[in-house]
Amino acid sequence: MRVKTSFHTHTTYCDGVNTAREMIEAAIEKGFDAIGFSGHSHTDFDESYAMSLEDSRLYKREILELKEEYKDKIKVFCGLEYDYFSDEWITGWDFKIGSVHYVKKDGIYIPVDEAADILLDAVIEHYAGDVYALCEDYYAQMGNIVKKTECDIVGHFDLITKFNESCFTLPTGTIVPGGNGPMIDEKDPRYVAAYTAALDKILGEPGAKDRPEKRPLFEINTGAIYRGYRTAPYPSEDILRAIKARGGRVIITSDAHDTEALGFWYEEAEELATRLGFKL
Ligand SMILES: [Zn+2]
Ligand SMILES: [Zn+2]
Repeated sequence: MRVKTSFHTHTTYCDGVNTAREMIEAAIEKGFDAIGFSGHSHTDFDESYAMSLEDSRLYKREILELKEEYKDKIKVFCGLEYDYFSDEWITGWDFKIGSVHYVKKDGIYIPVDEAADILLDAVIEHYAGDVYALCEDYYAQMGNIVKKTECDIVGHFDLITKFNESCFTLPTGTIVPGGNGPMIDEKDPRYVAAYTAALDKILGEPGAKDRPEKRPLFEINTGAIYRGYRTAPYPSEDILRAIKARGGRVIITSDAHDTEALGFWYEEAEELATRLGFKL
């Protein structure tokens, strides 16, 4: 990789384990050229892992101070991981990752990445057991991500598949490793149609002359591999191919919540991107 970066980094201001300074020191140690901080933006219905509005001010102040302090050693950027439903201040950041962490259905916010059994319960309770209807709602929101968040990077595009390789609990209470096969069949035509429509909206259809004015990067996010949820990054290879077919571009990120995660699985991710024809 010519330039080693991660623009997806959390700290103790949100749900990260390490301070911003510790993350910067680790990034320097690992030979990074740049580190972008992306604290979770505020959502008023769930403050469990996001920054409070007050914390985001303190976060910004500290990152800007560190940017100055470390300017001869590493480039530091102050961004946000901006949730689809965030009420945070949208301007004044170096960059933004746009992420869909919740699907809004029947007036409630369903967290798609919190736990497999929460997701499964929501499918049963709000979608009459039809997981693809949930995926359709998820990707319908994803298709609007640029409009909603003005993001520069699309975060973990297929986060909805986070637990596809994990254990989850059936309504009977039985914990099933991998369930009866994956919760979502990623080759299912309804699933493919849902993400294809979102990509068409974000990047334009393959070969289209009229492309959206602002076309964000898509992250190849290695965070869920580090945390043991997946064996491959977000998004899937099929989706990466579809991004490539639309002339989209990618950036490798760690989604790091601790110093160890920085740069994890980067060589493999670089190989994957290169094999699919992306230039990094
Ligand atoms: Zn996220
Ligand atoms: Zn994140």
